[in-house]
Amino acid sequence: MKTLLEGHARFKIGYYAQHKNIFEDLSRNGQSPPAMVIACSDSRVSPEVIFDTAPGEIFVVRNVSNLVPPYAPDTGNHGTSAALEFAVTALNVRTIVILGHSQCGGIRALVNGPEGDHGDFIESWMHIALKARQRVCDSPDAPTDFNARCSLCERESIRVSLANLLTFPWIKSRVDANTLTLAGWHFNVQTGELEAI
Ligand SMILES: [Zn+2]
Repeated sequence: MKTLLEGHARFKIGYYAQHKNIFEDLSRNGQSPPAMVIACSDSRVSPEVIFDTAPGEIFVVRNVSNLVPPYAPDTGNHGTSAALEFAVTALNVRTIVILGHSQCGGIRALVNGPEGDHGDFIESWMHIALKARQRVCDSPDAPTDFNARCSLCERESIRVSLANLLTFPWIKSRVDANTLTLAGWHFNVQTGELEAI
């Protein structure tokens, strides 16, 4: 807690003071970020840091393993889907990026499978990416090394989320009309490199 409050004190006299006009403008006129980023909650993968963006530039959702569930308009608590709806239909973002990363803990749980202890929520959440696990681990070319499997699964789950994005009718129609672009990128925590998926 102390670290956070000390950080905020530095922010007020540093970043905020230097960018006061941006905050005031955003407060007065609202936000119109051109891009949405779906990233992992992992503390090493902060989209604002990786893309060097200012406040108001990217609309961010972070969840375990940067997953997009398929379109399912029911009474479930669809946090990611609600954020997608707001970003696409209200803010009219022109790009959606799925930002995966190396050494992802959620993907390690997924590759471990039901043998691991995944608590109350992680296992069922990671079911969204089950197809990625199957494509990697059930393949005759599947590497025997656990880390290599995870690394392939990180990339494959980005493809699953990109496909799931297209199950949302208001995303599909905009992609078909070329007013919305989807992209998948994998961030290497050690090297800082981005790889297009
Ligand atoms: Zn992760």
